[in-house]
Amino acid sequence: METLHFCSLSSGSSGNCYYLGYQEKGLLIDAGISALSIKKHLQNIGKSIGQIMGIVVTHNHHDHIAGLQTLSKKYHIPIYTTETVWRHILRSNKQREIGSDCIRHIQVEKEFDLIGFSIQAFRVLHDTPEALGYYITCGQRKITVVTDLGHICSTAARFIQLANFLIIESNYDRDMLLKGTYPEDLKRRILGKNGHLENSECADFLATHRNPDLTHIFLAHLSRDNNTPELALKTMTDRLLPVAPPPCLLPEIAVLQRNSPSKVYAL
Ligand SMILES: [Zn+2]
Ligand SMILES: [Zn+2]
Repeated sequence: METLHFCSLSSGSSGNCYYLGYQEKGLLIDAGISALSIKKHLQNIGKSIGQIMGIVVTHNHHDHIAGLQTLSKKYHIPIYTTETVWRHILRSNKQREIGSDCIRHIQVEKEFDLIGFSIQAFRVLHDTPEALGYYITCGQRKITVVTDLGHICSTAARFIQLANFLIIESNYDRDMLLKGTYPEDLKRRILGKNGHLENSECADFLATHRNPDLTHIFLAHLSRDNNTPELALKTMTDRLLPVAPPPCLLPEIAVLQRNSPSKVYAL
């Protein structure tokens, strides 16, 4: 079985971009940082932009699409998302010149194949007309990527529970948000069902509903102002420890940093 590599190039409201692939080729999940930064980060992990065979996009917020136009115009990389998400991406001033040769339409919960990965998009709740998570399989490896969701709805729950490798949002600590300086309407938006996922909802769900074969949890899209990597990690570890099956086989838990790439994980 060929080794898979995963690396977070950036995670958080200033930009999201994840690499998943083999030795020779791979794909990106979102491209929310500049094409130049993506190129640089890929080089630092021994990959090149020429090895990227496609980009799957979760939704139209800037922190997920910032690099798309340049990547399409300069490198002609195919970009996959649903018709609704495309419509809103192309309305954005900075993305309206995405080359039509790069536009690929996919349908929700309909598998498609990309470089040997079987990929399904599924809907999540977020403050945009359509936001997606992705469920990506390769042989026995089942990878779910789910960021930017206000609440774990039944659809997201279904795909999270399938994963043995999970990239999931752990955006904010409720106390930090409530006591923080954000305006009240922004607090309400983040706290709402279409906002972002708080540390404890994420941890409580995984404590009781995770796949027994889940080996890795990556905590993603942390808020700069309403969370800390230590707090997100502690919340998850504290909730998972009491319910870990004997002899306490905890998944590996890592926090994806906002402004620096993660190490390269071999799956
Ligand atoms: Zn985001
Ligand atoms: Zn978003």
